[in-house]
Amino acid sequence: MRNFIFFRVFRPRRQAVFAVMALLLAGCALYPYYISGRERRAVEALSWSVASKVIVVDAGHGGIDPGCVGKSGIREKDVNLAIAKRLSAYLRQAGATAVMTREGDYDLSEEGKAPSGVKHKDDLAARVELAEKYQADLFISIHANSIPLTECWGAQVFYHPKSKESKRLAGLMQKELIKTFGETDRWIKPEDFFVLRGHKCTAAIIEVGFLSNPREEKLLADPIHQNKLAWSIYAGVIRFFAGDPAPEDPTYD
Ligand SMILES: [Zn+2]
Repeated sequence: MRNFIFFRVFRPRRQAVFAVMALLLAGCALYPYYISGRERRAVEALSWSVASKVIVVDAGHGGIDPGCVGKSGIREKDVNLAIAKRLSAYLRQAGATAVMTREGDYDLSEEGKAPSGVKHKDDLAARVELAEKYQADLFISIHANSIPLTECWGAQVFYHPKSKESKRLAGLMQKELIKTFGETDRWIKPEDFFVLRGHKCTAAIIEVGFLSNPREEKLLADPIHQNKLAWSIYAGVIRFFAGDPAPEDPTYD
């Protein structure tokens, strides 16, 4: 250290150097909290935009249909429901009507006992019908992903290719997810899924992460992580109703 001219000229006390270094480290550590606090206040200031809106929150799967299951046994249906409940709570707090397609471990087919095939389609159709019954402004379906590769991670939002507004909603939600969880190479994708196709209202499906990735499986079962996901989806909804424009694809070059 003695070689530095600063230390030769000023000869600062060792305690002072340590104090400055500690302050700098604390500043670096706290900076993300400062940013997330500022983001949170910005979203809260716009929460009026969702008041009086009707939003169907769909926790994918349920009952005898677990959805995908991670290696350590975390079931998609439970993750979906936990996030759907948190998202609904945020929406209700802001004055929206949140209609959950299910609030427990069951599906929506007749008697809630349909195994697969046609009856499973009845379950999906019932979810779509709920949006019509309540004349919903939005339909948000929550799912988790699973593929043979264990490295893939990150949330991704899907929309129907024929709906411009759904694309805007999906983009705004994806942008909030990137803000919360950092950059991934994932961006929104158009898909002709049944629950997106059947809607008159704006709709999006969010795959909240990969249960096939052991690290993400653990995270998806963590209430703190679930809450962050719910908040990010909520922030996207708020910005959608506040009229934010569709964001550009940041992964496009
Ligand atoms: Zn699913």
